[in-house]
Amino acid sequence: MPGSFRLFRIAGVDIEIHWSWLLVFVFLTWSLAAGLFQEEFEGWTQTERWVAASATSIVFFGSILAHELAHSVVANRLGIPVRRITLFVFGGVSHLESDSRTPREEFLIAIAGPATSFAIAALLGALWVILSPIREPAAVAAAYLAVANGVIGVFNLIPGFPLDGGRVLRAILWGVTNGLVRATRLASWVGTIVAYGLMALGIAVMLLTGEILSGAWFILIGWFLRNAAESSYQQVLTRHLLASVPARSLLDRSYQWVDPYMTLQTLLDEHVLRRGARYFAVSGGTGLGGVITLKDVQRFPKTSWPSATVLQAMTPVERLMVISPAVTLDEALQLMTRHNVNQLPVVENDVLLGFVTRTDIMRTVRLRVELGAVEK
Ligand SMILES: [Zn+2]
Repeated sequence: MPGSFRLFRIAGVDIEIHWSWLLVFVFLTWSLAAGLFQEEFEGWTQTERWVAASATSIVFFGSILAHELAHSVVANRLGIPVRRITLFVFGGVSHLESDSRTPREEFLIAIAGPATSFAIAALLGALWVILSPIREPAAVAAAYLAVANGVIGVFNLIPGFPLDGGRVLRAILWGVTNGLVRATRLASWVGTIVAYGLMALGIAVMLLTGEILSGAWFILIGWFLRNAAESSYQQVLTRHLLASVPARSLLDRSYQWVDPYMTLQTLLDEHVLRRGARYFAVSGGTGLGGVITLKDVQRFPKTSWPSATVLQAMTPVERLMVISPAVTLDEALQLMTRHNVNQLPVVENDVLLGFVTRTDIMRTVRLRVELGAVEK
């Protein structure tokens, strides 16, 4: 996620924080220090309240992290690698490197998060019972965190995809109907309804109680969920459509070869601007020497374009990410995303067959959707 930074690493998973999470942290600490703890502990100094509030926020942060780690650990156990967790304003995301292969896997990965939140809620609830006669401040914090974890567990179990509950619903529908795309469509549809429900609730809260901030929060979460439901469905649909199509069938063979000693200025004037191409094969000693793209040229300062050569700016064949014609378009698209490129050279027996481009892949997805090659 852009705007995130890495905090630390647990169990082989990088824990990242998006800047928006810091807002949550500050807001939560502030609302505890100036709200709950102010009411509960009138005798406390300002400093004591803020220290206690920060400590509580850190434990809250730990509970969200534990929820996400539960998803990640189960996924890793099932052979689906997770290398990153990002915490952001609406909670956390575990970045699974591939999708679940069976409804059972999907179910187990999805349920692990809420189950962990409920387990933490139960532990903190027990702690509250034990602590309440002894140390009151810790007891208040434990009770607050127990409720917060319970709420997180319940909220995530709302059956709208891509919330955990939506994933559970999708796993069940997938298991019953044996159709992943249809199951995802139904679960996303429920997700969209839930999202509009949350937005309506937000408006009602604003109008009936005058709590503008809480109302706005519901509307924001609803809006986020609506977008997530739509885009996750599109993603599943796209991947499903592309998983059976090999790169071979979508080769762009109309690419041009350019000379490595051509200047960047000539490349731009003669090839890019005149013919509208954005990437070129660069000839080498016996075949492909490398690939040069518009992005490579843009990395060079404008003033050097008349003198710098294609050879200097291109990605040489040794460092080039290439694929074989049998690789599926789904895998190709994932590689493009991971390496942040818009096309991949397709090579067989050291011979360049052509390129697969992001634009062509998206076009074929649209066409296949239009032709109704979707239902499964
Ligand atoms: Zn979750």
